[in-house]
Amino acid sequence: MKAQAVPNPVRRLGRRGFLARLAIASLALPFLGSLSARADDPPRLDPNNPAAKTIGYTEDASKVDPKKEPLFKPNSRCANCTFFQSAQAKGDDAPCTIFANQVVAGKGWCRAWSAKA
Ligand code: SF4
Repeated sequence: MKAQAVPNPVRRLGRRGFLARLAIASLALPFLGSLSARADDPPRLDPNNPAAKTIGYTEDASKVDPKKEPLFKPNSRCANCTFFQSAQAKGDDAPCTIFANQVVAGKGWCRAWSAKA
């Protein structure tokens, strides 16, 4: 049985071509790292999620109609709710202790809102 030759990238691309591609790949590595970090971030809670709908979660508290949501208090939003985990916030989003493994929008709101102490 004859062994197949393993392609040699240096020979195929030439020394300069190989080094150029190696340099480009090394420049891209930090960006690939940030992409994988994003992939590990918990997803944002979908307002159409059945549990979210049950407690009237919305991503924008300014659109809540107080006549339809009697529990809504002026200026209440996720960012000033006791369940909003501000210490773990990334941008405007942070985990909410009510919705495990998901983040909610800081300007969101739901009927479980409780003023941060
Ligand atoms: Fe936002 Fe608080 Fe409702 Fe969580 S419990 S979704 S932080 S208002």
